[in-house]
Amino acid sequence: METINVPTPGPGEARVKVQACGVCHTDLHYREGGINDKFPFLLGPEAAGVVEAVGDDVTAVAPGDFVILNWRAVCGDCRACRRGEAQYCFATKNATQRMTLEDGTELTSALGIGAFAEKTLVAAGQCTKVDPSARPAAVGLLGCGVMAGLGAAINTGGVTRGTSVAVIGCGGVGVAVIAGSALVGVGRIIAIDIGPKKLAVAKKLGATLPSTRPAPTR
Ligand SMILES: [Zn+2]
Ligand SMILES: [Zn+2]
Repeated sequence: METINVPTPGPGEARVKVQACGVCHTDLHYREGGINDKFPFLLGPEAAGVVEAVGDDVTAVAPGDFVILNWRAVCGDCRACRRGEAQYCFATKNATQRMTLEDGTELTSALGIGAFAEKTLVAAGQCTKVDPSARPAAVGLLGCGVMAGLGAAINTGGVTRGTSVAVIGCGGVGVAVIAGSALVGVGRIIAIDIGPKKLAVAKKLGATLPSTRPAPTR
């Protein structure tokens, strides 16, 4: 356990009291030096919480709002955003100030979030208001794994009604691909995994043909 300093939010920033944070594969990438080498990291990019304080100019969220944190707060103004393709935004926002250790060492927050802490400082645009009655541990996943999978299906893959989809690997991101495909009305969604539990979740989220049948014998 370490004590960290979380600054008072400046312009465009918000401080969030974290209620739940998932353990994401991205945390492992950071730990293994697969993202960058700006140690020390404050991990935890997949979280939900309550806004505690905001910078003077922030109007989209206010103290008391229940929010999920998202790691790509789009600018709304660049070429990609103006073309309606915010998923390709060139200027996504993070907090300007840095959280630090007690000795002043600056922390690099994972994907600009860093929610393995009681409080975290983010760009106000990284806070997305959600239904306050939702469970933090469930909706926290929306900002990372769910978004990655849904976006892969709908925005990157461009799946549509009438197509078929096969998903190899039904972890958090894989089942979100399945949920996204089901959302747009894909007729046949084939879930592929070696874990029966994962296939059960895949089926619940819309897979039409989980590969649970044993291989045919001759
Ligand atoms: Zn994640
Ligand atoms: Zn943009």
